[in-house]
Amino acid sequence: MKCSRRTLLKTGALSGLSLACFPNNASVAKAAYQTHAGKIVEKIPTICGLCKASCPMLALKGKYGYVRLTGNPRSPIHAGTLCARGMAAVQLLDDPDRLKYPLKRVGPRGQGAWKRITWDEAVAEIAGQIKKAHAAFGPESLALLCGSSSTAFIRKFYEGISCPHIYDSSQMHSAAIRELGYGTVFGQVPDPAFLPELERADCLVLMGCHIGENNQVSQLKQVCDFLNRGSELVVVDPRFSAMAAKADHYLAIRPGTDTALILGWIHYILAQGLYDPLLGDQVVGLEELREAVSTYTLDRTAELTNIPVDSIRRAVQTMVDAGPRTVIMPGSHLSWYGADVDRVRAQAILSALLGSWPSRSMQKFDFAAQRKSLSFADIINQIGTKKIKVTAIWGQNPLQSEMAPYKTITALKDAEFVFACDVLPSESTLYADIILPEASFLERMDDLHTWDIGAQTMTGCCFPVVEPGHECRDPYQIVKDIAEGSGQGKLFPAKRIHNYLDDALTKQGSSLDSLKKARGLLLKNKEKRGGELQEPARLEDTGESISFAADIAETGMDFPTPSGKIEFHSAWLAHNGFSPVPVYEPPATAPDGFLRLLYGRCPAHSQTRTAGFTWLNHEVPENVLWLAESLAGQLGITDGEEVRLENRDGFRSLKRIKVKVTPGIREDCCYMTHGFGNRSPFIRDAYLRGVSDSALMSRGKVDVVSGTRGMRDTFVRLLRGGNGS
Ligand code: SF4
Repeated sequence: MKCSRRTLLKTGALSGLSLACFPNNASVAKAAYQTHAGKIVEKIPTICGLCKASCPMLALKGKYGYVRLTGNPRSPIHAGTLCARGMAAVQLLDDPDRLKYPLKRVGPRGQGAWKRITWDEAVAEIAGQIKKAHAAFGPESLALLCGSSSTAFIRKFYEGISCPHIYDSSQMHSAAIRELGYGTVFGQVPDPAFLPELERADCLVLMGCHIGENNQVSQLKQVCDFLNRGSELVVVDPRFSAMAAKADHYLAIRPGTDTALILGWIHYILAQGLYDPLLGDQVVGLEELREAVSTYTLDRTAELTNIPVDSIRRAVQTMVDAGPRTVIMPGSHLSWYGADVDRVRAQAILSALLGSWPSRSMQKFDFAAQRKSLSFADIINQIGTKKIKVTAIWGQNPLQSEMAPYKTITALKDAEFVFACDVLPSESTLYADIILPEASFLERMDDLHTWDIGAQTMTGCCFPVVEPGHECRDPYQIVKDIAEGSGQGKLFPAKRIHNYLDDALTKQGSSLDSLKKARGLLLKNKEKRGGELQEPARLEDTGESISFAADIAETGMDFPTPSGKIEFHSAWLAHNGFSPVPVYEPPATAPDGFLRLLYGRCPAHSQTRTAGFTWLNHEVPENVLWLAESLAGQLGITDGEEVRLENRDGFRSLKRIKVKVTPGIREDCCYMTHGFGNRSPFIRDAYLRGVSDSALMSRGKVDVVSGTRGMRDTFVRLLRGGNGS
């Protein structure tokens, strides 16, 4: 039987959620799949496109055309597993709410009135607008708001025409801050999705990292292995998170004071002489650092962070005892309170003092390529004032991923021309003049993906599991057509995506055929001078920890910083007008009667990207508001009661949210998961399910180094009864 799109789901429905949410039922689901699907006749390698982790998948096609998704066992870091979202992704193929044809707006922006047009008409209009704006006003008149696994080619296009306004939400809120924080200390940047050194660590420090709630398979697997070894876990979080429940040291910190805590730990290590004395020769700025942390005594740190002195001391002593085998998780979502690069720099410096900068295989930080880009708020301002003439929204939903969505809506309504490309009609697409339907990741090929997995690299790409449904197209073809229409065809010389990928792989000494034969993943040993494998030098299988400084001296390794050393004091930052050593800035304080709103991830959803997945919604239908038991008692609020939220600028949640009364959160904050409260009525299963956190965020301090706005300075009050209607 040919693979019918309609039959795809039947077995998936049985297998996807069972495997994802009830792992013990995996064999039951597998048996159910085999009964319905018949013998597996094809295994197609692909890559999950639902989050940054990009897990390698196999699509198993049964004799009768059913498809089930499973992890690709060839990946050494994923162990053949997927999370619930990845397994449920088969639902995308038959989602009745998918964008099916190119659409042109026929009513006011935001209303959702469309007419169907042809691809030729859609491409001609978009390419014409880009060409006209570029010729008359230059590349500054264009903007691209993007994010998702399909954005590689549209980014190449906008970079190729020198557009300075390319804004990728997930990049800005995580990688951009991490790169500046670690890069200015070590000249290298870790990737939290897989840390080779965690394989043999004795102590793990998580600061505001919600692993297990923020699911990335390779990372979660590494952390589970770490916990199974019985090693020491330090968790710093105002909320008793899933990881806090496993911690040996849980520090319920006052929100926004993490930098003070790290500076306090650094002060303690320096004052007690607990670092490797040889390190002094390998770093720049030890004395400047000593001066910068001089006031962060244990007592003052305790006062600032609201953590007892003993807990602060015990936690740092645990790290010192584990020494180079301490890993401080670099973190993913890092835009918290404004001075976020300083916080991440302080984390990197603490790692160096512990001697725990192990892997030399990290991505290099490109000092020369750093340039100041416009913040999201500035881009939105330029869209609303028509300085930016053409706005592209690609695989991104800025009305949920960025704060102040009502300002964004106003700007998009006033914009000159907007086009969007996506798989589902998110609320941001409602403001576009033209919408392009993109093939889902199971129907397309994306650019090559490379994972750094320690001593090896792994390269893979998506192979389409089925042909694109309806009139959906793959992103390479869409971008190539737009580029040609706007006179920039030379940027995409390959005729089809297959040719593009084959050319790229040939340059690496391989081919698309070889990649497919290798079950979609090419593993390659990394080499360094002399042809040896590049292993983390200090964490060898012997279990011996080698002195960090001695190791640097022994290998003669320079760090790729301007000085060639680890930089506690960064002349590069000073030259660019920023503080050369990390500085703690106290967070904004809550007005009377308001609580700080904290947010995190839900393991069953990839922000709003999976909001319409009915299986996932069945498991986690909406978010809830965590409220401290003691505070709920004072306010007379009971568990399960529904309240409306109002922020300090008077913005209210569109609907009520259920309160979860718990001892697991501090009294000065409340918490909800992100990714709910979708406002697009065209994604029916997600429409107004739960409450949107970003819709309550109307203010936030901009981090001066990265230009990203912190999202945790939102204060809300709870409206009950008549007030909450
Ligand atoms: S962690 Fe889950 S959603 Fe993310 S890429 Fe892997 S399977 Fe997909």
